[in-house]
Formats: sequence, C-alpha cells, structure tokens
Amino acid sequence: MPKLLIATNNLGKVQEMKALLAGLPEIELYTPAELGLALDPPETGATYMENAAIKALVFAQAAQLPSLADDSGLEVAALAGAPGLHSARYASPQGATDADNRAYLLAQLATHAPPWPARFVSSVCLALPDGRTFFAEGECVGEITAQARGSGGFGYDALFVVAGTGLTMAELRFEDKNQISHRARAVQGISDQLSAIS
Ligand code: IMP
Repeated sequence: MPKLLIATNNLGKVQEMKALLAGLPEIELYTPAELGLALDPPETGATYMENAAIKALVFAQAAQLPSLADDSGLEVAALAGAPGLHSARYASPQGATDADNRAYLLAQLATHAPPWPARFVSSVCLALPDGRTFFAEGECVGEITAQARGSGGFGYDALFVVAGTGLTMAELRFEDKNQISHRARAVQGISDQLSAIS
C-alpha cells in the first residue's frame, strides 16, 4: 500500500490533515513522530508555496517517503496582509505561543476601526523522494473578532469568524472546520495528484 508522511510538527495540522486524508483509499499515513523524525526545516521562502516545498522536500528526503506539507497563514486586510507568512512567529521570532500571537494581533488592530476582514491561506506541497513536487492552494474568508470564542482548533481560530456562519473557527466542530477550511480546500485540491504515489 502507498505510504504518505504528513510533513508537519504542528499537532493541530497533524490532526486535521490525518482526518482530511483518511477518506483516501489505499494510503498508509505516517507522522514524523511515528517515524522518529525530529526535523524543523527553516522557513526561508518568500511565499507559502516555497515554504511548503522546503518542508515537504526535507521530510521526503529524510524519510524516503512521499511527504505532504502545509504552509499557511492569516492575512488581515487592515494590517496590509499581516501576519501572513509570519503567522506562526508574529508575537516574537522565537517561542511565540498561539495565545501570544492572538494577543499581539488584537494589539495591532487596536488602532484600526472594525470590521476587520481577513482570510486564512494554505499551500500544500506533495514532494516525492526523487524531488518531484505537486502543489495546491486553498483559502477561507472571514473576519477577526475582538472577543476570542470557542475551544477547538489552534492558532488564530478563536479570533476568526468564518464568513456566513457567525461562528469562529474554534466554535466549529472539528468535522465542520474540515469541510470549509483553507487547509481542507488545499488538501482536496491535491488529492487527484496523490495518484503520483501509487
Ligand atoms: P506555518 O505554516 O508552520 O508557518 O504556520 C502557520 C501559522 O498560521 C500557524 O502557526 C497559525 O498561527 C496560523 N494558522 C494556519 N492555519 C491555521 C488554522 O487553521 N487555524 C488557526 N491558525 C492557523
């Protein structure tokens, strides 16, 4: 059976990607932890796609397995698209927690009048051990709320109200986030190309 490594150390992403890929027949999924892989490739790319490729290729080489990486971020219009590529490290270049990043985001928005339209973006890259790469992207639009709500998800989910729902990503059920999220759309987009690994 073809094997696929979920090339991320972010536990929130691991859970979501496992569920998103579980519906695909005939693929055996692995996580870095299950393979004893402790890799943290530097995200030096200028785009989400470049960063996704860096991560997918490093994991594919190390594990000698097809590897699927996500690079994603939150873009807030009032902040000219920030935090964007720097979403994971917004509050500080080292050691920022999700709570730190959420607090920093609200501090940055304090001088801007709401509403605060925003979108989540995800680029996924499937890399093969021979160096071939395949890409797909997804987005989810909404707006930032000043009051965090909900306990699901990770990252900025509690501050992101999904357009048309009135609910934050953190208030959605896990299955419902996985129907409409940027990552769900990107993984859906790559699923046809997963035939490259069979
Ligand atoms: P990276 O892809 O490892 O650079 O990290 C992406 C960062 O964007 C995460 O650490 C979160 O801060 C944020 N992010 C990406 N996707 C989501 C999501 O689905 N919910 C909440 N925050 C997200």
